[in-house]
Amino acid sequence: MENSKIFRPLAPVQKALVAIFFIAIGSAVHAADYSGPLFDAHLHYNEEAWDGKTGPHPPADVLARMKASGVRAIVANSRPNTGSLTLAGLPQTREAGVAVVPFVRLYRNRADYTGWFADESIYTMVQTELARGTAAGPYRGIGEFHLYDSANANGPVAKKLMALAEERDLVVLAHVDDAAIDLLMAHPPTQGQKLRLIWAHTGIGGAPVERVDALMARYPGLVGELSYRPGLVCDDNQLCPAWRALLLKYPTRFVIGSDTWVNQRWQHYESLMQSYRQWLGGLPADVARKIAWDNGAGLLGVARP
Ligand SMILES: [Zn+2]
Repeated sequence: MENSKIFRPLAPVQKALVAIFFIAIGSAVHAADYSGPLFDAHLHYNEEAWDGKTGPHPPADVLARMKASGVRAIVANSRPNTGSLTLAGLPQTREAGVAVVPFVRLYRNRADYTGWFADESIYTMVQTELARGTAAGPYRGIGEFHLYDSANANGPVAKKLMALAEERDLVVLAHVDDAAIDLLMAHPPTQGQKLRLIWAHTGIGGAPVERVDALMARYPGLVGELSYRPGLVCDDNQLCPAWRALLLKYPTRFVIGSDTWVNQRWQHYESLMQSYRQWLGGLPADVARKIAWDNGAGLLGVARP
């Protein structure tokens, strides 16, 4: 077959290839990754990672991962609380340059996930932990807790804990849907105008951006944590347009987190943090810095590294 017969019909394809080439060049020229400090506002150091004697991720392992990732502060909440207490008390944690902000986990075991909101012994446990404190100072928050049915936000212990959090200025870390945010915020005396609540995943079920926007406007103490958030990032691991607009609208109201709820998340800790650095790099530098560090540090009183 003659060459001319091959190439003439292919001309439109070649044009398309040229166009694709220039699109590829264009998207390759994206902003540099964010390179400043990270505040991991949603971290678990559960007993299957390390139970104090054995496990695949002893303190030296997790601290090395944080250090390699440029993580300079963490919200530690672990099942049971022993994991947070261990990280808070080790000299190696300070040597790694990691500030530990301990939260009281509501779970002593997996069974507590489904009944904590009506279990008085959980309320007693929280008060005991708060009175005891940690080697890194007093507990600064309560959670993470889950509500698989938002109506359980009205459980008697859930109500008492929200009132306690507001009274003692503790930050709440809640894995709940958008309906439960309204219910939880209604419990303290100020109707959610004072309570500070980190919304784990900013609605893992994918509450619409407009709904997240409305909740942010209604509750000044609501902060969105962005792990596992559906629809957050699009092509090239950059923010999708609607989420970019929301983060720019509320630059002081979002934080990032690893959510190391299973050991697999520890195995990929460095790449999780690198992935955040990629999309943070696509934001204006001051906004990236806020979401990466300043918002968590300001909320929880951690000094600049
Ligand atoms: Zn979690």
